[in-house]
Amino acid sequence: MQRNESRIRRLHDLLTRKELSCTELTQKYIDQIESDNARLNAYVNVTPAQALKSAQEVDKKLHAGEKLSLLEGIPMTLKDNISTEGIETTCCSNILKGYVPIYDATVWKTLKAHNAVMLGKTNMDEFAMGSSCDTSCFGGALNPYNQAHVAGGSSGGVASAVGGNLAVYGLGSDTGGSIRQPASFCGLVGLKPTYGAVSRYGLIAYASSLDQIGPITSTVEDAALVFDAISGKDEMDSTSSGARETTADKLNGDMKGLRIGIAREYFEGIRDDVKAALENAIKTYEHMGAEIVYFNLPILKYALPVYYILACAEASSNLGRYDGIRYGYRAQSYNSVHEMICKTRSEGFGAEVKRRILLGTYVLSSGYYDAYYKKAQNLRGTIVKAFRSAFETCDIILAPTVPMTAFELNFTAKDQVETYLTDICTVPINIAGLPAVSIPCGFDAKGLPIGMQLIGNTFCETTILKAAYHYESEKYAEIYKELDLGVRL
Ligand code: GLN
Repeated sequence: MQRNESRIRRLHDLLTRKELSCTELTQKYIDQIESDNARLNAYVNVTPAQALKSAQEVDKKLHAGEKLSLLEGIPMTLKDNISTEGIETTCCSNILKGYVPIYDATVWKTLKAHNAVMLGKTNMDEFAMGSSCDTSCFGGALNPYNQAHVAGGSSGGVASAVGGNLAVYGLGSDTGGSIRQPASFCGLVGLKPTYGAVSRYGLIAYASSLDQIGPITSTVEDAALVFDAISGKDEMDSTSSGARETTADKLNGDMKGLRIGIAREYFEGIRDDVKAALENAIKTYEHMGAEIVYFNLPILKYALPVYYILACAEASSNLGRYDGIRYGYRAQSYNSVHEMICKTRSEGFGAEVKRRILLGTYVLSSGYYDAYYKKAQNLRGTIVKAFRSAFETCDIILAPTVPMTAFELNFTAKDQVETYLTDICTVPINIAGLPAVSIPCGFDAKGLPIGMQLIGNTFCETTILKAAYHYESEKYAEIYKELDLGVRL
């Protein structure tokens, strides 16, 4: 099997040819989770009964000779901030432990309608705030390539599960890189769609103007298939946009005449081996007939402070709802409502979440609003314009996903600011609301994957996925390494 062959298509063929039943397929994944989850800590809640029930529905259809859609019966996972009716959804925070949503997120409702087989909910940084999953109240998810390294964050559990063959694909959320960075760390494909392309209804909010749901998969075609299924207008999310063309059927064709932009600033301060891998990728694209266009994007240096001001401001407001009255955890002893709320929040939130609520409340407070929040909003506008004018000279922008490879386990504990700095390549994309995909482009000396980011203009997912698909097809032998993961179907 060519490694970049769609795993979803392959399993679909096995099911429809009746080479294995959906129940057997699902049971294989449940067994795999049972044997490997203790090592990877990818899942925080495994739901085998619900998975087998969905599998039986698919088998019934197969027996009746009914046609299956591509995603039907494919075992997958959801990050634990995507609401699932009747299934605990914690955002990996003590404050939400025991919270069972009474409705489904639109993305899950859609996938359920496709008879997707959900194996369980996966690990994440608490409320999606972090880069290594270690702010999770369940402990961090580990990298399938090397367990002395993190899987990344905040959707680290999804990446650990997909990379470790504990799910075929998963949905994560990306506010400042949380789909692309763990995909990059685990040698996977991670797509952050255009803001509004996928409904956020039922996604527990971190920073609403930046959050977007997207897939983490093993191959580009899988990412396109999942994106096609979950994107589109949703009445329940007023920021979602209308139906667009499908992407998965447009990945072929050639690269001739595609203008790939290189913003010089993106290549400053990144590790030498990451830079070398990207330079090789640029050569590959040139060889495939693309035109390389160099330009400057000096505004990039403001992206990180703008992100941390805006994201924290929105978080301080979004997380105001956790008061011990409406959801999850409530402090045991208190003498007044005020004391109950204070104690609940002090005991329920972890240190990183508290740090961001404090910072966000500060930048929104009177006297500081103009100095920080308003300035950041103005700069956001300037960043949007800078990308808009860059896309007048190129069709996609090629950049690193992260300036380095997967952190060692104690990296974030050593220096929080250092960790924030590693978000430099991903956050500008959320600020500008653009789509971007991270795909593997090599390995470092330790054998850890290196990721490359292809950034598109708004709603140009097809353009970036097509470019990603071509690179993947050309280079799959060099950018993928088969891990010894037991049965890989
Ligand atoms: N690492 C970034 C942060 O800590 C991004 C998180 C995200 O995209 N949810 O904010």
